[in-house]
Amino acid sequence: MSGVNEIRSTFLDYFQKNGHEVIPSSPLVPRNDPTLMFVNAGMVQFKNVFTGLETRSYSRATTAQKSVRAGGKHNDLDNVGYTARHLTFFEMLGNFSFGDYFKERAIELAWNLITKEFGLSKDKLLVTVYHTDDEAVGYWKKIAGFSDDRIIRIATSDNFWAMGDTGPCGPCSEIFIDRGEHIWGGPPGSPEEDGDRFLEFWNLVFMQYEQVTKEERVALPRPSIDTGMGLERMASILQGVESVFETDLFRHLIDVTASALGRAPDADTVASFRVIADHLRSSSFLVADGVLPSNEGRGYVLRRIMRRAMRHAQLLGANEPLMWKLVPALVREMGQAYPELGRGEALITETLKLEETRFGKTLARGLGLLADATETLGDGDMLDGETAFKLYDTYGFPLDLTQDALRQRNISVNLAGFTEAMERQKAEARANWAGSGEAATETVWFSVREKAGATEFLGYETEQAEGIV
Ligand code: ATP
Ligand code: MG
Ligand code: MG
Ligand code: MG
Repeated sequence: MSGVNEIRSTFLDYFQKNGHEVIPSSPLVPRNDPTLMFVNAGMVQFKNVFTGLETRSYSRATTAQKSVRAGGKHNDLDNVGYTARHLTFFEMLGNFSFGDYFKERAIELAWNLITKEFGLSKDKLLVTVYHTDDEAVGYWKKIAGFSDDRIIRIATSDNFWAMGDTGPCGPCSEIFIDRGEHIWGGPPGSPEEDGDRFLEFWNLVFMQYEQVTKEERVALPRPSIDTGMGLERMASILQGVESVFETDLFRHLIDVTASALGRAPDADTVASFRVIADHLRSSSFLVADGVLPSNEGRGYVLRRIMRRAMRHAQLLGANEPLMWKLVPALVREMGQAYPELGRGEALITETLKLEETRFGKTLARGLGLLADATETLGDGDMLDGETAFKLYDTYGFPLDLTQDALRQRNISVNLAGFTEAMERQKAEARANWAGSGEAATETVWFSVREKAGATEFLGYETEQAEGIV
């Protein structure tokens, strides 16, 4: 059986053998991209190489990249614990060609890895391509021997990748495995595609155009390749389990959580165990990369993740801080591949403990308030925005924590009401400050802060607009 550590090295070794330079993961905080909340894919550290702004001594690379999809454009926070495949922190395995090989070789390399090295059976595999990409269809037929019904043409942006409004872009082809009829779900492009039966595990991006302006797209003289395979998803396939949470690494984390709590997961509680294990990973890796919980930007995303985990810990009956106790297990599992975890262990432990200690009491009180406020509510009802805002403002409940807490009862939050309450409070604060006789300074401070928020953390602001503060 292949453990995650073994799968990671099989991938990297394979591409190294095929002429790729093994490059370490970049930190989770993007170095020179203020528009991006966290690194969320393997290609991020190579952005400037793809655009030609930067050159490297190699034209092929392979990485295992730490990725976080919480906050920003890709936000999987609400999926975690509810689907079999989404994590907030995961490792993206990738191979990259910077103007070197292109579509045919990329498909061939991928196909040989999954069928020969990983031994996946061809009968269970299928792919999607962008609907106009006849070239990719041709290569999949030639290389994998697929018939037309295994090559699904998709017309949406799911199969057309773009770096931004301008810049490199191109069609992509995603590889799926059918895990059998006993799991609910349909093939990509079908109405049941969100089920877990057909699992997407690898995305091959063919960067062949450059979007020059909104209207003008030209062919790149030297097209490039960017791919991303979810390590945890591949582990779930190779280990024959139905979700990423049943793979070796997560089993160990969940076992340690169970013994710390003195209870094992059952059908009612398993989602909480999963959320805790996932959030432990994202929190720890973010702290190791220098993010600390705060009320703004990246730090606030971290705080939201930590507080969500704490609520689940309380649901499981923890009445004292739990998360910090799980850190040694995580270091044991991943410390070898990511030495920053071991180096940061003391800071991670202290940060988790402090946040849990601080928030523990208000969490319990806030949950009490929430229970009272929703006592008469039921399926399909809405919690008023005032209460949600009070929980946010007085009890430190990020909005998504409140939403998560009500999700099982299918109660939503009145987002317009929440925003209204927040705006009202901001206006009151401004009015009060204006009265203090330092209006000019305060106004400047506010607008600087708001501007900084808007430009530095686009993703976060966008999210706020959607109400997922
Ligand atoms: P999905 O449709 O399942 O949300 P995606 O299309 O958003 O996945 P990509 O952006 O194509 O994912 O990322 C490349 C690969 O990274 C995916 O094929 C998958 O294996 C992995 N991956 C993406 N998001 C996650 C996640 N939240 N947790 C674990 N693995 C992920
Ligand atoms: Mg996704
Ligand atoms: Mg997808
Ligand atoms: Mg994809």
